[in-house]
Amino acid sequence: MRKILGIIGGGQLGMMMTEAAKKMPEHIKKIIVLDPTENCPAFKVGAEQIIADFKDEKSIQELAEKSDIITYEIESGNSDVLKSVEDKAEINPSPETLKTIQDKFLQKTFLYENKIPVTEFIQITSIEDLQYGLTKFGYPALLKVRRDAYDGRGNLKINSSEDVQKAFNHFKVKNLMLEKFVQFKMEVSVIAARNTKGQIKTYPLVENIHENNILRETIAPARVTKEISNKAEKIAQTTMTVLKGAGVFGIEMFVSADDEILINEIAPRVHNSGHHTLQSSETTQFEQHLRAILGLELGSVKLIHPTVMFNVLGSKDFEGEYKPIKISEQNVYLKMYGKKISKPLRKLGHINLVAEKGESIKDLLKKLVLLKDKVRITALN
Ligand code: ATP
Ligand code: MG
Repeated sequence: MRKILGIIGGGQLGMMMTEAAKKMPEHIKKIIVLDPTENCPAFKVGAEQIIADFKDEKSIQELAEKSDIITYEIESGNSDVLKSVEDKAEINPSPETLKTIQDKFLQKTFLYENKIPVTEFIQITSIEDLQYGLTKFGYPALLKVRRDAYDGRGNLKINSSEDVQKAFNHFKVKNLMLEKFVQFKMEVSVIAARNTKGQIKTYPLVENIHENNILRETIAPARVTKEISNKAEKIAQTTMTVLKGAGVFGIEMFVSADDEILINEIAPRVHNSGHHTLQSSETTQFEQHLRAILGLELGSVKLIHPTVMFNVLGSKDFEGEYKPIKISEQNVYLKMYGKKISKPLRKLGHINLVAEKGESIKDLLKKLVLLKDKVRITALN
């Protein structure tokens, strides 16, 4: 039966899911997104839209009534409301999985209890907890908001005992956690998929470079030894086995100074570090996600072409309409998300630099240096 797909969130991830869904007309007949921004990116590529806040109960109910199957592009949805509409539509990843993942403390506790390596962490509800944690972990340590954080906005590094009171007062919310700081060599991630029948596949390990806490570049495959990529892949497989949800998950990891792999966090959704799959892989992460939640056989995760993905971000110094950018170079794929307004460091698009025969990651990175100028965002007027 052809399904109506509901997506909570119609930003770039919802947009690329919509595009993938449109290529599967034999399985999906319509896409409806719930998003507060009028003409959101997913709407622009052909999804219907319910204009409302992601957490608005009535609108989630409306979406469930109109859809056969619901998924999401953000982890901050209201898992209790989602749970209450499970009789109207199938929701994947499941509200229980979402509930565990969307709270960073519950998520790390879950991983720890399943013997999956993570850095040390404790829950923080008082300044005494914080002082205790800092004595235990030492400096620097990272204070994190447990919920609704993204692009590092809910993180604060505490460098010395003088910062403690200020750090505790920094966040308005008080559901916090403290993590021991990982002196990592590299950040990596695995895009993993699990379908409703339990089939699991993991994409090859990729390397992520962050700037100002925002993902800037992904290098596929990661420049690590076979031992490290095997270790990371094994951890991703174990994680997917214990994590019960269906869908694509972005598993962010650290490679520590002594080559240990620690999971930083899991996103219960398609992930920015999987955008390279649009050109690099046999199956894109967006199609894979849909295959997973539809209960179809998962597609091949083979990386065909080494690829470097570079995020096109809003310039730090301005907010407003911006000049369109154009790239007409071979093997460089620009994807803009149709956002009218640029804001500092807002994700506006990305480019994938795909290796031609014989080209190495090193060659792609050289090419990227020249391209960075061409994708700089400037004011329209
Ligand atoms: P995003 O939306 O990018 O996933 P987020 O707001 O959920 O970010 P985290 O993923 O927790 O935040 O952290 C953002 C970045 O901060 C990480 O990619 C990493 O560079 C750094 N970071 C997080 N936790 C630690 C840690 N324990 N030790 C060292 N660095 C860390
Ligand atoms: Mg993260």
